[in-house]
Amino acid sequence: MKRIAILGSTGSIGRSALDIIARHKGEFKVAALTAGNNIALLEKQMKFFSPDVVAVAGESDARELKMRVGKKIAGSVEILSGQDGIAEAAARKNSGFVLSAIVGAAGLIPTLSAIRSGKTVGLANKEALVMAGRILMREAKKHGATILPVDSEHSAVFQCIEGHRKSRLRRIILTASGGPFVGRTLLDMERISPREALKHPRWKMGEKITIDSATLMNKGFEVIEAHHLFALPSDKIDVVIHPQCIIHSVAEFSDRSCIAQLSVPDMRGPIAYALTYPKRLDNVIDGLSLHKIGSLTFAKPDNRDFPCLSYAYMALKAGGTMPSVLNAANEVAVRAFLKGYIRFTDIPAIIRKAMLRHKVRPDTKLEVVLEADNWARAEAEEMIYSSRETK
Ligand code: MG
Repeated sequence: MKRIAILGSTGSIGRSALDIIARHKGEFKVAALTAGNNIALLEKQMKFFSPDVVAVAGESDARELKMRVGKKIAGSVEILSGQDGIAEAAARKNSGFVLSAIVGAAGLIPTLSAIRSGKTVGLANKEALVMAGRILMREAKKHGATILPVDSEHSAVFQCIEGHRKSRLRRIILTASGGPFVGRTLLDMERISPREALKHPRWKMGEKITIDSATLMNKGFEVIEAHHLFALPSDKIDVVIHPQCIIHSVAEFSDRSCIAQLSVPDMRGPIAYALTYPKRLDNVIDGLSLHKIGSLTFAKPDNRDFPCLSYAYMALKAGGTMPSVLNAANEVAVRAFLKGYIRFTDIPAIIRKAMLRHKVRPDTKLEVVLEADNWARAEAEEMIYSSRETK
């Protein structure tokens, strides 16, 4: 039986993973769960899956959780708190597989902790790779950890290149839904509300990634993610808009033959593949009826009206701490947009300004990457705050 730790168990990926685990009880045992502040859901998950250890971000949430689950459960489950507690739950020897599904920069330290304990890590927390991909890949090598992609596009590439020589891979093509606003211009996206932006046409996902998907920043992050996971330079990573989200990505080989991976868009597919690799479970997702879908379409991404994707390529080329700045400025801008402080079109503008102001440093040390992250957050917050003052 595979013993699993889930970092971010109350988020969209965490819940989908637990859904798979609940339906394949003989295959898995939940060893650890960690969550941010959704204590009510974590309590339910604890009662259902009986992990050995849980961790929550806040100390007061940990106390509340202990009270809520009652003495009997609190006596048999260890409840940790804070970033250290989450990192400890990730590193515990009671699990061999860690699903890293915390959203944003908050996932970096726990992911690193799982990697340094030499486990197999199913990586859904793409921001950790964007910020510190070089460090994560280096530490994985050093500690004998295996990183398996959970992002649907990277899972697709991973499945397409299996059994092929790396030197024969010519390029990869990541597919992008384009989000809800594909075909619109910057000007008519100015007044988009958070509610409209949160309506993703194909994928059911958490709030942050849904906004990232609408700006195409998500695809930009995925280019950087692919660069680290598959050791490919940026000119071997292409992006195509594919609104039906049936082809999840494509690998092109030296002979110009391409292999693609297809399925209905359902994150349980790539999550299950990472959980059981190299095996496959039965009937994880619905079958594909190509005749019902009828046609698959493709288009070039529009870099003028959706500049975030090109900023990601720029950040990757600039290297060093620039991707960390891209990520941090985006995280602050997306949160401000969701709160109604800035317009949808301010998101790329804030990222661009932060990148222009940043002096790149090498990304070999974690402190330097975290410093750049902090710096970019402060810059972005200042831009948002001062623009609110003058409004
Ligand atoms: Mg994806």
